Order: sequence, then structure tokens, then C-alpha cells
Amino acid sequence: MRITFVGSGDAFGSGGRFNTCFHVAAERTSFLIDCGASSLIAMKWCGIDRAAIDLILLTHFHADHFGGVPFLVLDAQFVAKRTRPLTIAGPPGLAAWYERALAATFPGARALPFPLALRELTIGAPNRVGELDITPFHVRHDDRAGPCLAHRIEPVGRTICYSGDTEWVDTLIEAARGTDLFICECYMYEKPVRAHLALSILRQHLPAIGAKRVILTHMSEDMLGRLGEVEYETADDGKVIEL
Ligand SMILES: [Zn+2]
Ligand SMILES: [Zn+2]
Repeated sequence: MRITFVGSGDAFGSGGRFNTCFHVAAERTSFLIDCGASSLIAMKWCGIDRAAIDLILLTHFHADHFGGVPFLVLDAQFVAKRTRPLTIAGPPGLAAWYERALAATFPGARALPFPLALRELTIGAPNRVGELDITPFHVRHDDRAGPCLAHRIEPVGRTICYSGDTEWVDTLIEAARGTDLFICECYMYEKPVRAHLALSILRQHLPAIGAKRVILTHMSEDMLGRLGEVEYETADDGKVIEL
């Protein structure tokens, strides 16, 4: 399985990084985890095969995680000329958010040349989506846009967890325990801020989580300025790993 960190940034463009988007190419499927506002540009920069993507899996509806969806749909319709079915899966409220996002960016009725399925996931239980088993966990970030989720994803033979955006919640232990890869937001180095994690907090909990590999992402300028003091692996735009 190959994972590309298409975008490892936050909502503010810290470090000149693209908004959150990870591309996972597994044995029988390929999918995106989050699709921030800059993600279509970032995918083209990384050389991601957009036509092969079966699923866009979303953690929450902030624009740095979700705002790229209208661009991707437009690209699929007019440039990539997609015919392959596409599923967009995410928190409850997805269908309404999708309609609003399209209406606000590229309004007008459109007949897509490919089947599009919008799938609102059940929180706290495994959801079978194509080749994947996805268990969403409700985390603590900003529920004004709907429940914010961490996802535990079980493709064949490997398990990945992505924290989404969140403060520390014990739910993350269950979501990420024993995974092959835990991609975790780490916004601050020392002092936690509301709605996000800090490395000082993660250091207390990561040993108990026991993930085989941890990669930190969604870093502020504060965190990026202290990367030399960080003992964990960190994401970069364009970073590719094999699991
Ligand atoms: Zn974010
Ligand atoms: Zn957010």
C-alpha cells in the first residue's frame, strides 16, 4: 500500500503547505482521505491518478479538509471526463453540505457523466464502503459544521487511523490502537489551543496507543519552527510511504 501526503497543511497555509489530503493506493482500491480547498492543485503537482480514485473519505466539513470537493467534481466532469463511479463518504450531514458547497462555488444544475454516491457514515461502528471497513469516531474539534470524526480504516492486511482535527480525547486511543499507521494532527508544540492537539499532550498518550508508525501532520508555524526537537516522523507535501 502506498500513501502520498498530497497536503499536510492547516487552514492557514502554514509553511506554504497545501490543505489536508492523503492519497492511499491499496491493492484493490485507491482513495483520498480529506480533500481540502487546494487539493486538486496539489494532486496534479503530485501526479495522482484522479480517475482511479473510488472514494473520498471526509473527517469534517471545514474548508481545509472538504473545500476541494467542488473542484474535484468539476475536474471529473470537464477535464478528467470521468466515467468510473465515485463515492464521497463522511459525517452525517454530508448530502446537505455537498449541495451547499457546490451551490456556493459552481452553481447550476449538472448532469455528471459518472455515478456519484454520497454516503453518510454511522459513527462508532464499522461501515463497509467498497473494499474498506471504516469506523468513524467522534472527536472534539468544532461540531458547528456537524460531527468531527477520526477514522479507523481497514484495507486488506493493513490498518490506518487518521485523527482528523481534534483536541485530545481518549477516543483516539480506541481509534488508533495497534494500527500500522496513525496519522495524527499536531497543531502546536507545547501549549495546546482549543480544538487542536499539541505534541506535549501526544507524548503522554502515543506510547499507550501503540501504533507501529506515527506521522504528525496539520502543523502550525509554531510546530513547524521546532521540527528539530520533534522525535516523531512528520508529514511533508509530496511525501510517499509504503506500508
Ligand atoms: Zn484543519
Ligand atoms: Zn477543522
